[in-house]
Amino acid sequence: MTMSVIDLRSDTVTVPTPEMREAMANAQVGDDVFGDDPTINLLQEEAAAMLGKEAALFVASGTMGNLSSVLAHCARGEEMILGKDAHIFRYEAGSAAMYGGVQPNTLPVQADGTLDLNQIRRAIRGNNVHFPTTRLICLENTQASAFGAPLPPDYIADVANIARDHNLKLHIDGARIFNAATALGVEASELVKDADSVSFCLSKGLCAPVGSVVAGSREFIERAHRVRKSLGGGMRQAGILAAAGLISLRKMTRRLHEDHATARQFAEGIAQMPYIRTDVSRVKTNIVYFNLTADAPIAVDELSARLKADHGILMRPYDVSERSVRVLTHYWIKPEHVERTLSAMRALLDPVRAGRERLSAD
Ligand SMILES: *Cc1c(COP(=O)(O)O)cnc(C)c1O
Repeated sequence: MTMSVIDLRSDTVTVPTPEMREAMANAQVGDDVFGDDPTINLLQEEAAAMLGKEAALFVASGTMGNLSSVLAHCARGEEMILGKDAHIFRYEAGSAAMYGGVQPNTLPVQADGTLDLNQIRRAIRGNNVHFPTTRLICLENTQASAFGAPLPPDYIADVANIARDHNLKLHIDGARIFNAATALGVEASELVKDADSVSFCLSKGLCAPVGSVVAGSREFIERAHRVRKSLGGGMRQAGILAAAGLISLRKMTRRLHEDHATARQFAEGIAQMPYIRTDVSRVKTNIVYFNLTADAPIAVDELSARLKADHGILMRPYDVSERSVRVLTHYWIKPEHVERTLSAMRALLDPVRAGRERLSAD
């Protein structure tokens, strides 16, 4: 991302900060497959401590983190309960089925990002020779599809109690767990204390170029480690990457309220514009969804193309048929970038001006 481009497509677009690049250049490294990389070892220790877990494991991506966790918990033919809109179900190429033969049992995600507790209870299979064995419940925190809703500790405790009562494991896809912690004003460890495993991304709002971390008990991490190796995730001098990840943990986790403020600034700005529907009250972290109304003078793909061509603003349509767009804020989006985005959108959505521009384009 160059300075002049305003990239609101995702928080994955965050490039490493100058401080990260310098730390990467100077990182002490070793062969991490031999356990010899001091920077990886430090990252894993600090991540485990921050999450209140015994051990942690650096992995190449969030997908690898979730997959290593699911495969460490479940055997072939076993079932995991998770949201229909969960990243693990929708956006990970069916990897749990592909590599683990794990069957998903999906439930609707509610507007607040939670799964209904009674529906979870009902989805758990009984002891019957016809049924697959339920092994795992997965929650996503924040729940990206629900305006990045943070799931609070008491809800997680309720799900964990259900899991414990039925001898199930609880995994939290915490790709944005530090956004959740920031929004709720609690430590991330508070949000995962009842979970058997958690994965989180260093490479989203935390700005690192590559990587995620899985955390849990020492025994769980040993199994996840073996799965990681089998997936080709044994990396050698990966301390180059962990050096950036340490800055993510130490510094970037502490500034996420800024991204939540810019998301809110954006949502409040578009809520004032004609042809836009959004729900400012749902914006609690760094994700905003909006829809264009049916009578809008412009379609969402057109809006996105014009913002890019005329203003260098990148914004991806989420569902063209629903006329919806998803916007994420992050480290490289400052309040003045939001202001520029809002004025560009105002220009495009003003019907008189939009009509004049369409005439001149014909
Ligand atoms: C980004 C993300 C992941 C992991 O994605 P990768 O692209 O594999 O790093 C997992 N879960 C959620 C909710 C995410 O947003």
